[in-house]
Amino acid sequence: MSKIIYKTEEEIDLIRQSSLLVGKTLAEVAKIIKPGVTTLDLDKVAEEFIRDNGAIPGFLGMYDFPNTLCTSANEAVVHGIPNNKPLKDGDIISVDCGVLMNEFYGDVAYTFEVGEVKPEIKKLLEVTKECLRRGIEQAVVGNRIGDIGYAVQNHAEENGYGVVRELVGHGLGKDLHEEPQVPNYGKRGNGLQLKEGMVIAIEPMINLGTKNVRTHEDQTTIVTIDGLASAHFEHDVAIRKGKAEVLSTHEFVEEVLRNKN
Ligand code: MG
Ligand code: MG
Repeated sequence: MSKIIYKTEEEIDLIRQSSLLVGKTLAEVAKIIKPGVTTLDLDKVAEEFIRDNGAIPGFLGMYDFPNTLCTSANEAVVHGIPNNKPLKDGDIISVDCGVLMNEFYGDVAYTFEVGEVKPEIKKLLEVTKECLRRGIEQAVVGNRIGDIGYAVQNHAEENGYGVVRELVGHGLGKDLHEEPQVPNYGKRGNGLQLKEGMVIAIEPMINLGTKNVRTHEDQTTIVTIDGLASAHFEHDVAIRKGKAEVLSTHEFVEEVLRNKN
């Protein structure tokens, strides 16, 4: 088992810069999301923006992943590969993006609505975002990993949703996936204790129906077994005393979305 790598303030600042670039990249993606656009179109915009800003796409080539973005539509949970299929009115699309800059990763995800989405799907997105907020609230010195998972799981299950078990959040730094694992389920007071210097990605993956998932025939994309929708939001967080510091932001994305409507 590898061990936790604690970060200095200087290192946390580099992760913050990488995370902010991901937030800005997702805002570029947000600008062009609409029915008819393909996920390869989104991927191209993201890769160009990241390279123009002096960074490297973090996912490209990692675990043999072929693109800059993971684009997971509807029943796809995560790890979707960008393709030539146009997005349709009523779809949702999780866009997960990583960058590597100054030797540190940022890793952020947002699930977008395409055109007009059904109210039950809008609610899934809102609840998943709230799960992330509640998980972040627990990411403070002295709490445990299980407190984060409990907060996420409890809010999702109160709303009748399934919490994906097979994929988890993670430590973040010079590697995209560091220790500790950060599950979206758990028991209060259980697991590793959180300390200053830890940086973690919290990323609830919440399903409208069953929690159970499988790997798609493409060997990469994770999909729900019942074919119902799944949502995914992710932030990078520094563990602090009293209140977690969210290093990434969805604010650039949400500003674009407000101006679109
Ligand atoms: Mg991610
Ligand atoms: Mg992640």
